[in-house]
Amino acid sequence: MKILVLNAGSSSHKSCLFDLSQGAEGAAPHPLWRAALDWTHQQGKVELSASGAGESIQQVLSITDKAEGIEAMVKTLVEGPTQVLGELAEIAAVGHRVVHGGRHYQQPVVVDDEVKATIQSLVPLAPAHNPANLQGIEAIAQSLGTIPQVAVFDTAFHSHMPEAAATYPGPYAWVEQGIRRYGFHGISHQYVAQRAADLMGQDLASLRLLTCHLGNGCSLAAVKNGVCVDTTMGFTPLDGLMMGSRSGSVDPGILIYLMRQEGYTADQLDTLLNKESGLKGLSGRSNDMRAVAEAMEQGDAQAKLAIEVFIHRLRREMGAMIASLGGLDGVVFTAGVGENSPLVWQQACEPFEFLGLRLKDELGRDEADQDVAAADSAVRVLVVHTQEEWAIAQACRSLL
Ligand code: AMP
Repeated sequence: MKILVLNAGSSSHKSCLFDLSQGAEGAAPHPLWRAALDWTHQQGKVELSASGAGESIQQVLSITDKAEGIEAMVKTLVEGPTQVLGELAEIAAVGHRVVHGGRHYQQPVVVDDEVKATIQSLVPLAPAHNPANLQGIEAIAQSLGTIPQVAVFDTAFHSHMPEAAATYPGPYAWVEQGIRRYGFHGISHQYVAQRAADLMGQDLASLRLLTCHLGNGCSLAAVKNGVCVDTTMGFTPLDGLMMGSRSGSVDPGILIYLMRQEGYTADQLDTLLNKESGLKGLSGRSNDMRAVAEAMEQGDAQAKLAIEVFIHRLRREMGAMIASLGGLDGVVFTAGVGENSPLVWQQACEPFEFLGLRLKDELGRDEADQDVAAADSAVRVLVVHTQEEWAIAQACRSLL
């Protein structure tokens, strides 16, 4: 069974083809084919890269229409050096990452007109993401006809949170309006929690895990007996931890102050908090942790402050998640920073030594998923490479 996965964003599209007849046990297999479109490359053009059958290509195409770009990307499955299929009809289904499923979807769902209308109705909650996800679904229908398409929601894993964790303490009208904590990165949190349980040789249903997705976007989830009981992202992905260019939680009074004293508009606040804050805003350099860490090593005081605040916020929110879990069996680090930064593992874990958590003396990155806790640690610490595309492909198989 061959499943195509599409992760459609506003400025990029990423796609993978998996063969699910290959063993599904253990770590995710390599996809048969992988491709991406980068729409930021050059005005009026798109950069297409693809790899498959041991070959890779990179082309700049004069295309501005997203559906046309997706069609060109999909063609590299059946034409040219990256060809891995005789015909597109060999694809059994297409899985899509859809960012916001609101309160409607707690599970992946086969896409039909009603599902599309619901994703459309949720655009005000995810204006940067849901339109791009829908466009991806329409483009696949254009290229592949009536193939089954499945929507896998980034919010779904968080949809069983207790009401006390999901409710914001504003007026009760917010509850009725759907202004609540939805949480995001759910596909990743769910995948790494299950993978961590497998690595620990235990049943996920018996574990209290704190999963830390630390990439350009950052969020934590408290996963108790396989269910997410708390998370740091909220009504939007802006809540919670400090991120690459997002502020995370700030005193809402700051926003009122900026509006009153400096005449900020909603759009200006949106840009400020989503694009000009976080590591980038505080360091004044970059949203990229590697660049900020390098500047800190060279003595840059702003970069040092940015990383210190990042770590402080991370520890504080980890403490909050541990309280929601009521205990701790494992911490799981994933995504760009979480998979690659021993410094972050050390600094994040240090305050929790009082729980008996101890890291190994020698820490290093590894291509494979690994347990970086000392043998006598009371809490396991797993570094797991997140595999959102593989998780989406598996969800398609289960559903179909
Ligand atoms: P993601 O959004 O998951 O692609 O993660 C992007 C973030 O991961 C950026 O801030 C990168 O700087 C960071 N990252 C990637 N590799 C490393 C590394 N070796 N050490 C620290 N951060 C890294």
